[in-house]
Formats: sequence, C-alpha cells, structure tokens
Amino acid sequence: MNVTMASAPAVRTYGHFIDGETTSSSEQIVRRSPATGQPLATFARGTADDVDRAVKAARRAFDEGPWPRLSGLERGRVLLRLADLMGRDLDKLAMIEAAEVGKPIRQARADVENSIALTQYAASLSMSAHGEIYSNLGEHLTGMVIREPCGVVGMVTPWNFPLLQLVQKLPFALGAGCTAVCKPAEVASGTTVELAALCAEAGVPAGAFNVVTGAGSTAGQALTESSLIDMVSFTGSTGIGRSVIAAAQTNIKRVSLELGGKGATIVFADADLEDAVEAAIYANVFNSGECCVSGTRLLIDRRVADDFTAALGERLGDLRVGDPMDPETDIGPMIHDAHLAKVISMIDHALSEGGSIVAGGSRLSGAPYDAGSFVAPTVIDEVRVESQLFREEVFGPVLAVTRFDSQDEAIRLANAVDYGLANSVWTKNLDLAWTTARRLRSGTVWINTTIDGAPQLPGGGVKLSGVGREMGQAGFDEFTEHKTIQLRTGGWERSIAGRAEQDPAGAPGPEARPAS
Ligand code: NAD
Repeated sequence: MNVTMASAPAVRTYGHFIDGETTSSSEQIVRRSPATGQPLATFARGTADDVDRAVKAARRAFDEGPWPRLSGLERGRVLLRLADLMGRDLDKLAMIEAAEVGKPIRQARADVENSIALTQYAASLSMSAHGEIYSNLGEHLTGMVIREPCGVVGMVTPWNFPLLQLVQKLPFALGAGCTAVCKPAEVASGTTVELAALCAEAGVPAGAFNVVTGAGSTAGQALTESSLIDMVSFTGSTGIGRSVIAAAQTNIKRVSLELGGKGATIVFADADLEDAVEAAIYANVFNSGECCVSGTRLLIDRRVADDFTAALGERLGDLRVGDPMDPETDIGPMIHDAHLAKVISMIDHALSEGGSIVAGGSRLSGAPYDAGSFVAPTVIDEVRVESQLFREEVFGPVLAVTRFDSQDEAIRLANAVDYGLANSVWTKNLDLAWTTARRLRSGTVWINTTIDGAPQLPGGGVKLSGVGREMGQAGFDEFTEHKTIQLRTGGWERSIAGRAEQDPAGAPGPEARPAS
C-alpha cells in the first residue's frame, strides 16, 4: 500500500440557498479532508431563523407559486434539464464528493451517474403520473382517486452519499409537484448546495428547492419541528430517526425514514465461491464500508468456511487503501477521527468477545496515513450472535464472519438483528435462493449479486431500518397524497331512508359509510 496524497484544491465557500439566492451566515463550519487534514470547504452554520426563512419560501412556492400547478410534462422537462446539467458538471460534483466524504473517486463518479439516472427516471414518473376513476359505483356515483403533491418536504440527509441520498428524494418530490428544504450533513454539504444552483439553472423556480446547511441539533431540529412543512424525509442513523419522529409530532406531519442497517451476505456451499468471495469483500468495503446496505456480516456454510475466510484474507491484501482522488484507490479514509475511533473500538470489543482476526484489525499508520483517518480492511471470524459486532452497525470496512449448518440456521441468524434493510444470498440452487429470499426480513434481497439496483426498484427498510420507500414508483408515491373526489348526479335524495336505498345497483349511499 504505497500511496501518496494529491495536493489540496482551493477551499470552497458555501452559503445557504434560500428563495433562489445564496445567503451567507455569520458563522462557518470548516470541513477538512479526512485523508490529509487540509481545509476543503466552509459551510454556513444555519440557525433556526435561516430554516424559518427557507421553509416560508418553500411554503410560498407551494401555496402560490407555479411549480405545483405546472403539468407533469413541464416539471419532467425541467428534471431532464437538471439531469443534463449534472452530466455537464459530473467531474466537479464527483471531485467535491470524493474530497469531502473521502470516498474513492471512481465510486464518487458512479454516484453522480446514478443520480443522473434517478433524475431521468423521476422525470418519466412526473410525466406519466395519473389518478384512477371508478365508474362502476352505480348509475349516479362516480369516484375519482387523484394524486396530489403532499406539500412542502423537509429533507435531512447523511454524509455517506450526500448527492445520491438527496437525489433519491428530490427529483421524485419535485416531479410530484412538492417544494422542499434540505438540511445536508454538516461535514459534506458541498454537492447539495451545488445541486440547488443546478436546479435554478434548470428552471426550478425560486423557493421550490432551498438548502440550509449547518448542525443537525439546530438547523436539522428546527426543520423537522417546523409546523409549516407537511412531510419530513430523513436519511440517517436510527437514533436520530427517533428524534425526527418526535419532532414530527408538532403538526402530525408525514414521515419517511431511511435508517441504519446490518446486512448479511449468506453464502451456501454450492455457490460460485470465487464470485462470492469478491462479492463479500465488495459488500463490505464499498464506500469504505460507510454504507447503510453494506454486507457487514458474512454467514457462511460451515463446510466451506475455512477455505472461504482464508480467500477473503488473501484478497483483502490486494486492495489499495489511500488517496480518494486516485482512480486506483479501493478504500478511502473514514469520515473523521471520531468515527475511526468508534470503528477501532468495535473491532477491539469483538476480539474481547471471542472473535479472531483474519485480516486487518487496526488503524493504518505511517506516511501517508498519519494525516488522515484510515483503517485497514478487517475480517473477524467466530463472531457470535450475541456480540456487539454481529448486532450493531459499524459503518467501516469490518466484516463479521459467523458459520451456519443449515438453511434454517442461516435465515435465523440473518433475521436475528434489529435492522432489516438488505441481505444477499449466494447459491446456484434456485429453490434454496427463493425460499431463503422470501423468509428474510429486509426491504431488499439480492440473489447472486450485492449492492445492485436500478432507478425503477424501490429501496427501504423494515424493523429499525425505517419506514417508507425511495426510488421506483413507490418512491414517487411517497410524495403524493390520495384525494378522493365523489360526484353524485341525478339530484340529492332528501329523506334519510331514501338516501340509504338510493342506489339499487349496490353502491352504498352516504348512510352506509362507517361512522368516524
Ligand atoms: P446522522 O443520523 O448522524 O445524521 C443524519 C442527518 O441528520 C445529518 O444531516 C445530521 O446533521 C442530521 N441531524 C442530526 N441530529 C438531528 C436532529 N436532532 N434533528 C434533525 N436532524 C438531525 O447520520 P450520519 O452519521 O450522517 O449517516 C450515517 C447513518 O445514516 C448510518 O446509520 C446509516 O446507516 C444511515 N444511512 C441510511 C441509509 C438508508 O437508505 N437507509 C442511507 C445512508 C445512510
């Protein structure tokens, strides 16, 4: 692992983006590179007043502005322009993302490409959205169930995929006709502010998308508590997700939560074991392990476990840890030193609970690692179901290996955690694959693939991993309300008895409705 770090780019200065304008703040947050410690960017430290201005702008844009009143076709065209502009600025967006998060530049580029695809798909949903008509309710009653934008959406996003996590929400919400305010993570806000400027350039009207940067405990809390927003769409940790639920009580707003995960890669003995080794590593080191759908547990058939873990250890040695800006880098630094300390403490704890190191296990030191927050990719064998490493999110490249003797045991182990975001199953036996997939309690199951996807496919969690879905038609529908409009023709029957019998064809009259 002989690497050097690229020299630092100029420090970028970001303000908020409120009502179509960039506004500064008296206080700034300085973001330093997690790879080199050099300053990269400053972000305005937003206050509750900044949030209030942004929310009022989004409210006005929703209640009085053109955006919700445009046709889906017109909104879709704006989103397609936005996708084109993201393509124009792909290099810049990827560079900012890699620098602030420390993610390898190859992955940062893929994040931007995926964001473009999601925006294009959201445009198509905007163009094709429609409601339903019920014309079989008897001669005199026609029912229409239409979809309307749910209003002003507060979006709170994490640092691990700042652009991609936002784009799993924003174009779907805008496509549905909503307006929004986003509070990005304080350590990686650059691409969110850049995206706001691109939205304006694409034709999203002033106030329809606003950004307030700053701390979660102030700006984030103020946004989620605001009674002027109709929905909060949050991606982040399960702990903060609980505070968001509490904050949403102010006006009983709609809540969608994408929270933590503890995914398993389940490898049966008949799998293509070479593919499975590569996949188990990828699932664990992708985005430096700072990924909610990481396969951070390996559940392995005992009959092949020794050879498999030995192959994992060998293969990890080929990976390059280092400069996020180097296209050859596989694994970047952890987001900051405090997080690195948490990862190291979880490794130490796993060893104290009986785990044994197969590879890695410590902070990387010496040049060029000393200036950054680097950990060696780690595999720990013999991790028991009761242990912390089996149950809690690490958010680093640390793989916990546990052996099983039967399909039932593999499924029981996979489901034995509080999270339910994504799992992956490896076998050549279709019956085994399918029956396992059906019994896993997670929002996504991959079969013979991992961390895969497409804009058409919804993602989200069960159990402590969250509520609601993003992407796909389901992700679009999250930002809409059903409205039922009933039209009765032929005159209003004035007698109560007559109203109950009004429709001999079988449609219940108003008296037949359940009392509320
Ligand atoms: P985090 O919960 O610490 O922060 C997420 C966001 O919430 C940040 O913008 C933060 O400033 C804000 N915040 C903090 N306190 C707040 C408060 N009281 N009120 C409102 N907002 C507040 O999460 P993180 O460390 O940025 O990201 C990592 C976590 O995100 C992991 O747990 C990971 O699993 C999860 N995640 C989940 C998904 C998913 O799709 N399920 C995707 C990515 C990340």
